Amino acid sequence: MKLILLGPPGAGKGTQAANIVKEFAIPHISTGDIFRKNIKEGTELGVKAKSFIDSGKLVPDSLVCEIVEDRLSEEDCKEGFLLDGFPRTVFQAESLDKFLNENGKTLNKVVNIKVDPDLLVERAVGRRICKSCGATYHIKYNPSKVEGVCDLCDGELYQRSDDVAETVENRIKVYIDETSPLIDYYTKKEILIDIDGQQDIDKVYKDISVALKG
Ligand code: ADP
Ligand code: AMP
Repeated sequence: MKLILLGPPGAGKGTQAANIVKEFAIPHISTGDIFRKNIKEGTELGVKAKSFIDSGKLVPDSLVCEIVEDRLSEEDCKEGFLLDGFPRTVFQAESLDKFLNENGKTLNKVVNIKVDPDLLVERAVGRRICKSCGATYHIKYNPSKVEGVCDLCDGELYQRSDDVAETVENRIKVYIDETSPLIDYYTKKEILIDIDGQQDIDKVYKDISVALKG
């Protein structure tokens, strides 16, 4: 299964990705996670990406497409993959199509998680992530059993530096201007599935699972 998860910041892509990759046994490729790892390790890519991420802007296409192509060329992506947070521009989508085409592959589905923009800031600002395993929590909607501690691995939870209200608002605007045209792009290709992301986390996943198997 070759899948894309589409949706505004805070829609629940990372949360649902964890369920999808488990059920469909495919690797989870999050460009945001790749950038955060590079920033933490102080690589050249991390240094270049940091200022864009901190201000809520998109990292330039020229830096993004190549890392995704390299990742998709790895052995574990042969049978399928789940892209989360990529593509984010029409340029990225066209470049992905070209890459897949050249490699004799086609996308199966694009899962579009829909959430009202008014709910997104609260979701992103309340998000907490495990430093060790990357699991995602929310202080109100999906709290860990012990505050600040991951249920899965006892790791320490942290708040992303770009999950502050002003930056989240920028990211939502960037999503509307630069990423939302992809809804039309994939609708025309007849592979887009709309999912109501305003339900409970479990119900959102049920809808995704049914749609992907259908
Ligand atoms: P994205 O990857 O799309 O930016 P996340 O999956 O990280 O979004 O979710 C953003 C925040 O919203 C997280 O704190 C997560 O726990 C919470 N969240 C995700 N899905 C739901 C939901 N259906 N209802 C309420 N909160 C949710
Ligand atoms: P995310 O983890 O998906 O919320 O992404 C965090 C940040 O990483 C975004 O606000 C962007 O600055 C950057 N980023 C992630 N994926 C991309 C992408 N496909 N294109 C450009 N920038 C990206």
